[in-house]
Amino acid sequence: MNAKQYVDQVFEQVVKRNPGEPEFHQAVQEVIESLVPVLEKHPEYIEAGILERLVEPERQIIFRVPWINDNGKVVINRGFRVQFNSAIGPYKGGLRFHPSVYIGIVKFLGFEQILKNSLTGLPIGGGKGGSDFDPKGKSDREVMKFCQSFMTELYRHIGPDIDVPAGDIGVGGREIGYLFGQYKRIKGAFENGVLTGKHIPYGGSLVRTEATGYGLVYFTHEMIKAKGMSFSGKTVVVSGSGNVAIYATKKVQELGGNVVAMSDSNGFIYDKDGIKLDTVQQLKEVERKRISEYVKIHPASEYHEGCTNIWTIPCEIALPCATQNEINEASANILIKNGVKAVGEGANMPSTLEATKVFQENGVLFAPAKASNAGGVATSALEMSQNSMRLHWTFEEVDSKLKDIMTNIYKVSSEAAEKYGYKDNLVVGANIAGFLKVADAMYKQGIV
Ligand code: NDP
Repeated sequence: MNAKQYVDQVFEQVVKRNPGEPEFHQAVQEVIESLVPVLEKHPEYIEAGILERLVEPERQIIFRVPWINDNGKVVINRGFRVQFNSAIGPYKGGLRFHPSVYIGIVKFLGFEQILKNSLTGLPIGGGKGGSDFDPKGKSDREVMKFCQSFMTELYRHIGPDIDVPAGDIGVGGREIGYLFGQYKRIKGAFENGVLTGKHIPYGGSLVRTEATGYGLVYFTHEMIKAKGMSFSGKTVVVSGSGNVAIYATKKVQELGGNVVAMSDSNGFIYDKDGIKLDTVQQLKEVERKRISEYVKIHPASEYHEGCTNIWTIPCEIALPCATQNEINEASANILIKNGVKAVGEGANMPSTLEATKVFQENGVLFAPAKASNAGGVATSALEMSQNSMRLHWTFEEVDSKLKDIMTNIYKVSSEAAEKYGYKDNLVVGANIAGFLKVADAMYKQGIV
């Protein structure tokens, strides 16, 4: 069997054995199709069944999360943790709390995490988890009760050397705090390396809050710099207004770019003079309100319903930072018609396979999520290091390590692309560079 036939056969099996999980199929397809040239050079990986093992999680945990809301009503949510691959380190990946979460979403995110974590150069395996719990509109007390119930089951599956969860959509510092408090209480031990994204006083790392957004801009900057461009004076659209979007916007503004639009799941704001980030932070991080409130404070700006319509706003650089599949083929074509030069993915898999193809065929510089948004998990790994060493690095120290890591991810991804005959194709380059390390470790550890 040649490499192409092997890849096709593995993909066929994935679709058959994981029915009704289109996001997982999409993530697997994008990765394994690009690995054909590697498998041609390494037939021993085919023989050792590396791909079949890579697409099958080592462990999948699904559990009941019962809690009582402020009206005294019993609510049942579903909790998930997928421990995907531990070839190069303990499972590592965030928790997502959003009504759309089901096993297929957790598997797509967990699978992406394997190669992303490998790309950081740090010793972390891949995992992901979450719940269909919706934190929107819930009181702090309800969020706390939910988190405590969630951790009452999860704690037995995780640990600083086993599996280290962090945040994702709907899980920020508040949720991590409640989760850690309950873990500590059950374990009777202060093992703060069990979770990352913690607040500073109990073992959090400086820069973790900013890391994914900053890292995205560091990576995108490397990519455009290689073609003689910079952020300075560029019009930029950033979707979302959560953790990744806010800190990507902050860094773009520091580098002299003009961010003119941001969104939430209801709609987007357009402020041609530049988004006032302080207002967005106040609305989203403090008051937990809708982004539509922005126009009441800045009447010269506009609010439009429909979050995906944000891609009709002309820009030279687009940074999708909200959620998966938020840019489809039609949106990609509109962006190109309006003159987009570069796309940097902040969210996980925000571009559909068709949209990615359209960008690449039209010469748009394209930074794929598993490389460009790896700054969050890389800084989480730096948080784990500080926890193990029981010390605390300064903001400048962590930021400079983050910048070095993102620059290195760009370097290894572009070199791998060139080496395997796909010059400038960072999608293929990131997949190959991330895969080689994991595959080598899996091969050397035998059939486990
Ligand atoms: P947040 O919960 O902080 O923010 C998410 C933002 O995206 C909000 O503005 C939210 O709007 C919007 N959004 C969420 N779901 C949808 C949807 N279905 N349709 C449209 N908009 C939506 O999450 P993060 O910023 O942490 O995460 C954003 C993306 O970045 C995700 O894909 C995540 O996996 C990825 N990521 C995050 C990392 C991190 O460190 N936080 C690390 C690496 C990747 P609303 O408020 O209306 O829900």
